[in-house]
This record gives sequence, structure tokens and C-alpha cells, in this order.
Amino acid sequence: MNHPQEILLAEPRGFCAGVDRAIEIVERALQKFGAPIYVRHEIVHNTYVVNDLKAKGAIFIEDLADVPPGATLVFSAHGVSRAVQEEAQARGFSIFDATCPLVSKVHVEVAKLAKEGYEFIMIGHKGHPEVEGTMGQLDSGIHLVEDVADVARVQPGQTAKLAVVTQTTLSVDDAAEILAAVRQRFPQVREPKQQDICYATQNRQDAVKLLSRQVDLVIVVGSPTSSNSNRLRELAAKLGTTAYMVDSADELRSEWFMGVARVGLTAGASAPEILVKQVIERIKALGAVSVRSMDGIEETVKFPLPKGLKIDAVTGL
Ligand code: SF4
Repeated sequence: MNHPQEILLAEPRGFCAGVDRAIEIVERALQKFGAPIYVRHEIVHNTYVVNDLKAKGAIFIEDLADVPPGATLVFSAHGVSRAVQEEAQARGFSIFDATCPLVSKVHVEVAKLAKEGYEFIMIGHKGHPEVEGTMGQLDSGIHLVEDVADVARVQPGQTAKLAVVTQTTLSVDDAAEILAAVRQRFPQVREPKQQDICYATQNRQDAVKLLSRQVDLVIVVGSPTSSNSNRLRELAAKLGTTAYMVDSADELRSEWFMGVARVGLTAGASAPEILVKQVIERIKALGAVSVRSMDGIEETVKFPLPKGLKIDAVTGL
């Protein structure tokens, strides 16, 4: 057999509540205040989403010095440091914060425990904007560990009051392993009541675990910068299934599908369903005859929008 017969879709996949909300904040700001709307960093890590919003009048910047005085500025879903927040306020922008509420929850926890004298170990990926935002809630006393080897090296100033926090989009299994090492070295460490890895990351990883056992190949729709999408591809590969991540259907290569009967398809939390549909069409063109959705958790999480973005049904403003 030279071409795929069936496509199996992971459930859940694609947009999470934090991504939905972040995109809606930019769209509503554009509608209400008109273009341009400035966005600090990619609103979510997806090329299609960013290009779509650019076409509608959003301008993505990294440096607040590139935003003109009086402009409307949106912080991305990944969150920002206190320094960025303070600079944006000092520059007098009209600010809408699209930080995912589940990231803000970690920020609040860090600020609260820091007041009680805690130092922190943060499990996360160096350079990721969420990690920069969370670590930037404090001037000092928050130490990043990326793996078990880092745990052996980390040198907190004291260990009597030590708490652990994590990036929201980590591999659940890797984070558990690193956390076990943290616990072993610092038995007193305080852990979050509920893990910081978010429901969407957990659910998409659980789904890909089920999916990859049933297919010959896994395709993950997601951009290279998307942490949770990368973790999905890695997880499928770790379970022994060949897995590729694509930013769009154009990146699919026909040779990947040679001798493959069943293709599993999923999408990271920042990847829109339209891209999944385009990938399905492309695989169908290679011969797949049926598309089936797996059973999975139905997600009902929804986050409220910030104040000031209600659209009047009559005026549209
Ligand atoms: Fe929020 Fe999780 Fe979605 Fe990130 S992946 S935006 S933390 S719900």
C-alpha cells in the first residue's frame, strides 16, 4: 500500500481558551479603536494567526520604543515581566492584557509567595517569553531549571522557603521527572496546589498518547515557536511513532506517507482549525478515504475578556 487509507483526528486539539481569548482581544481592539493596534510579541505562536491579524491592521513589536505615544498596546498570551508592564504604563499606552489567565495565576502566586519570603525554582525553557514574563515578576530569587541536570546545579540563596513553579506548556512527563529531582534535592519545597501545566497542554498530550498508539504516522499542526506543539510531536516520537510538525499544509511531503495506512493528526493550542482542514484535504489528495475523530474530553473552559472591549451590537463599536 502506497498511500494512507484513514486519518484519525486527536480530540481535543487546536485552540485553547487562552488563545481564543487573546485573538479576540486583538480583533475587538481593531474593531473598536481601529488600526493600527500594537501587539507586544506574537499574540500566540502561530504564523497563520499572526499574518491574519497583520492583514487586519495589527503591528507586532518586541521593543516598546517602537510603539508611538498614545497607541493601543496588547500584551501577548504569554505574559510580560513587571519591567515591561511598568514601561508600557510609563509610556502612557492604552493597554489590553491578553496574558492567559492561567499564566497570570502563576504570576500572582509568585508575587504572593515572594512577599512571604519565598525563593523559587522555575521549570521551563530558557528564552521562552512566558518564562521571561514569569521570572520577571521578581527582581531576583527565581531560578530557572530546564532539566534534571540543572536541578543538581541550582543554588538558591536559602532553602527554608523554596517554592516551585512551571511554564504552562511543558511536557507533563518531563516536568514530573524534573519535579521529582527538585523534591529529592529540596524535600521542603512548596508545590502549587494544582500543577501549573495547563488543562489544554495536559489534554492535548493525553490525546496524542492515545492517538499515536493507533497510527503509523503523526502530523502535528503548529509553528516552530510553539512550545506546546513541539511537545506534542516529541511525545508521539517518544512513543515510537514517526511524527512531523508542520506550520501549514504546504510543508507536507508525499514521501512521509509512503507505506503509511493510518495518519494521526493533531494541532497545538495556538493552531487554528482551518489549517487542520487544509492538511486533511492534502492528505486526502494522497489517497486517504476516511476521516475519523477519536473520542476525547470536551473542553468547556472559557475566559472573560478584559473590560473595555465590549462591542455595541448596534454601532459595532
Ligand atoms: Fe493558556 Fe494553556 Fe492556552 Fe497557554 S496553552 S494560552 S496557558 S490555556
